[in-house]
Amino acid sequence: MINRHRLFSAFLIVVFCGSTLSAEEDSVVKPPEALQRLKDGNRRFITDQLEKAAGKERLVELAKGQKPIATVIACADSRVSPELIFNLGLGELFVLRVAGNVAVDAHAIVGSAEYAVMHLNVPLVVVIGHENCGAVKACLKGDPASGNLGRLLSEVQVGNNLNTVAAVRSNVIFQADQLLLESDLLRDFVVSGRIIVVPAVYSLNTGEVTFMDPVKWVEDKKPAASISPQAASIK
Ligand SMILES: [Zn+2]
Repeated sequence: MINRHRLFSAFLIVVFCGSTLSAEEDSVVKPPEALQRLKDGNRRFITDQLEKAAGKERLVELAKGQKPIATVIACADSRVSPELIFNLGLGELFVLRVAGNVAVDAHAIVGSAEYAVMHLNVPLVVVIGHENCGAVKACLKGDPASGNLGRLLSEVQVGNNLNTVAAVRSNVIFQADQLLLESDLLRDFVVSGRIIVVPAVYSLNTGEVTFMDPVKWVEDKKPAASISPQAASIK
């Protein structure tokens, strides 16, 4: 009798665990879906149809664990808050912020992105620059800066551009490329299609986020977008 009871218990455990695993696999957000959720959230933001809030119930749920749908590497500018401009709630974005949204030699940024991809199964990495970025403008002007600020600004890449709009675009594409150049892990995840890395630009005037083509890794071991930054199309 005891043996039969144990056998039945084991059967229940197998069935329960099996169904749980299946449900988790089903609930994994794919890269295009995650990108669409950011686009939908930005649409709500610019049309004043805000939805998200962090209530008590959500707080209790998140205390058990996080499951963000995207990593966003954004400029530290106070007007570019990812959760607000994408109208997403607590626990939905894994946000990394630094002036000029740089990823060059910034192991804290690249390492954190690796953590989100590897351990939180984040399917989307967005590198977002913005209109009139102070870091980009300082580089265009050639403003001298010393110490840590000087080192940070030296990592902003404006290419051969003379105007801020084009320079912001060049910098964001460059920084997105850097993620693949500096991280074997992120590069492997991009090549295998498990994640996409998307450069984007935020408009301070309209609130709209313009997404570009995801960066790609090509045969000659250079990111596709870095070969011709201007070739990346806008969506
Ligand atoms: Zn900025």
